[in-house]
Amino acid sequence: MVTIKDFDACPLGDVKAITLSNSHMSATLLTYGATLQSLTLPDKNGTPTDVALGFDTMAGYLATTTYVGATIGRCANRIGNSEFSMNGKCYTLTANEGENQLHGGPNGFDKALWDYHHTQDSVTFTYTSPHGEEGYPGNLKVAVTYALSAPTTLTMDYHAIGDKNTLCSLTAHGYFNLDGQGNGTVANHLVTLRTPSYTPADAQNIPTGEVVPVAGTSMDFSQPTPISYIISLPQLAHTRGLDHNFMLPPADGQPVATLSSPKSGISMVVTTTLPALQVYTAGFFPPQEGKGGTAYDSWHGVAMEPQYPPDAIHQPHFPSPILPAGQVYSHQISYTFDHQ
Ligand code: BGC
Repeated sequence: MVTIKDFDACPLGDVKAITLSNSHMSATLLTYGATLQSLTLPDKNGTPTDVALGFDTMAGYLATTTYVGATIGRCANRIGNSEFSMNGKCYTLTANEGENQLHGGPNGFDKALWDYHHTQDSVTFTYTSPHGEEGYPGNLKVAVTYALSAPTTLTMDYHAIGDKNTLCSLTAHGYFNLDGQGNGTVANHLVTLRTPSYTPADAQNIPTGEVVPVAGTSMDFSQPTPISYIISLPQLAHTRGLDHNFMLPPADGQPVATLSSPKSGISMVVTTTLPALQVYTAGFFPPQEGKGGTAYDSWHGVAMEPQYPPDAIHQPHFPSPILPAGQVYSHQISYTFDHQ
């Protein structure tokens, strides 16, 4: 079932809230940023629990620097020095994190007001990013479809096509707290990653180019690992936990990441067709009022963002984020929930 409501107004116009629901869960999406605003499902006691961080009004979204729930593009994560060369031509991007560009620039897809259409159980957001927006070449038509594709699965399908060769790496920037948003930190959550390797990065979180197998190292999270332990690791002190890119195995429909909370009994499994996963345990999430007057702060959610690796355009041995003119970008991310 789909219900549509007025949410609020943003500088670009009125923002709608579209809620998808079935007998098990409901997801509310905003036309601002094609953003996941809430995701509610029962915990082990049957109590409806909203596991996605978000805001009740546009003021929260306009104030945050954390991309809460948004669709990220044109190119997720960092591009070193905000420039790249393609076919012998140099492109200069807008910088928004020191010299570098993060998550598509200061006015990335997370800040766009998207059009939408819907079916009985899905909503598709569309946006045309003009040639030159944030420095990227070519007009790019983008569509993101959110669907409750199974009783407890929310699926995001991403499609894009451009009229020039460009970069494209789209991701979902939800932050999840399986005890319910606004219930403090996720220190008690367990995280499990099916990631053969990771990409060490410099002080600005730009990959050095190395791809290091995780087996037998402190970056091996193939067994359920408490986030409290991850936060305590001295080698992760500079990022106050994880803010790391992991390489994924070839897409096979199997989970790449699992998050679970013993307290609520809720678990969440991430699957994707994308080649890499940024895991951010939100160590630098600034204090801000969240939904229902709750207080958000560091470590109050986990973002698990499938994408092309950060700065991949500068690392020829990383999967390439180049989308050739006229070729269709097609990727999927899904979240499946369970409770026991
Ligand atoms: C990045 C973090 C950043 C966060 C919010 C994540 O995807 O990896 O470094 O702080 O987004 O801005």
